[in-house]
Amino acid sequence: MRCTKAIVYKDFIRHNIQQIKSTLNCKTKLCCAVKADGYGCGSLTTAQIAQEEGCEYLAIATIDEGIELRNNNISAKLLLLSLCTPDELEYLCKYNITPTLYDSQLVKDFDKVCEKNSTTQDVFLAVDTGMGRIGCYAEEAPSMAKFICQECKNLNLAGVITHFAVSDSISDANIKYTKEQAKRFESAIDGIKALGIDPGIRTCASSAAAMAFPELQMDMVRPGIIIYGYYPDQITKQYLAERNIEIDLKPVMQFESQVVSIKHFKKGMSISYGRTWVCPEDTDIAIIPAGYADGLLRRNSPGMEVTINGKPYPIRGRICMDQCMVDIGQNNKDVKRWDKVIFFGPKEKGALKDANDVANETGTISYEVMTSLSKRVVRHIV
Ligand SMILES: *Cc1c(COP(=O)(O)O)cnc(C)c1O
Repeated sequence: MRCTKAIVYKDFIRHNIQQIKSTLNCKTKLCCAVKADGYGCGSLTTAQIAQEEGCEYLAIATIDEGIELRNNNISAKLLLLSLCTPDELEYLCKYNITPTLYDSQLVKDFDKVCEKNSTTQDVFLAVDTGMGRIGCYAEEAPSMAKFICQECKNLNLAGVITHFAVSDSISDANIKYTKEQAKRFESAIDGIKALGIDPGIRTCASSAAAMAFPELQMDMVRPGIIIYGYYPDQITKQYLAERNIEIDLKPVMQFESQVVSIKHFKKGMSISYGRTWVCPEDTDIAIIPAGYADGLLRRNSPGMEVTINGKPYPIRGRICMDQCMVDIGQNNKDVKRWDKVIFFGPKEKGALKDANDVANETGTISYEVMTSLSKRVVRHIV
């Protein structure tokens, strides 16, 4: 068992899901995003807890992610948020995965595959209201809905979905943009209804919109990041409290390692590749067996501080593929060989920084910090 590992607190996953549920309108369904291995925290664990908490849908990004869940007895509906290729369509039937589609070619292909497999499958119609990614334009949505319902005998229009580009931002211009997107989505839905077609489940809100714009929860929300314990970008606990939305999130993942050696370095000696750090005075350096191949972002060096026994210490020199070096100062009685080192984690478990703090230091987001943890970092679900 390698000492560089990720601890996943499953009670915190449950706590966060319960927090989200407490903010939902009574008829709004929950679709928990478990894509990218549950944002690095483990998709199966998250899926199991989400199911126990009454979550009807789980959101995935690839068919392989869906197959893994099905092979582990996950029975919730699976919503595929990204597109797949024609040769993958077969697996949507075999594993009962609901795709989000929007162009007549792929819709037609999927209908044929369903026909061949003698099944009827649900699909969601993706509408691009301003995200600039997948989806038909709002004006095209009614005719696409009609095509699915009237030309495709083996498909059932189970819902319509759109995604916001800036719902995690609190600037006036961005709030305005989100409202415009929502308006376009409403007009697409109205157009579908005007043709006498039931649009099914209307869903537009991920974590940010679900919390910051409760009126946009519609029939289903699709939270991801809040399940794993983080507020989306600019939406903070304080921002929500000012709007009378009480939500308490607990970071789920702790990334940790151990001090495997302590070495004395003399003034003028250099640390790591590129010699970017030259000791300005004599010091002791702790060697940690974790590097960028584990997901410790190289651009966090030098300078990122790690926690050892409740105190912060800086990484010196560049983070290597498998190791990094931490300056503990001379004759430090607080740090001993084999002590635990925490890169990030929940503060109530002793970390000084969480994934969002690490992200802020390098201009990224908690999502990237967590999903960067690689496969060789074993997840210990506790
Ligand atoms: C990833 C994703 C979500 C979840 O987003 P969060 O910001 O993590 O809540 C929801 N919907 C779509 C379409 C996504 O791609």
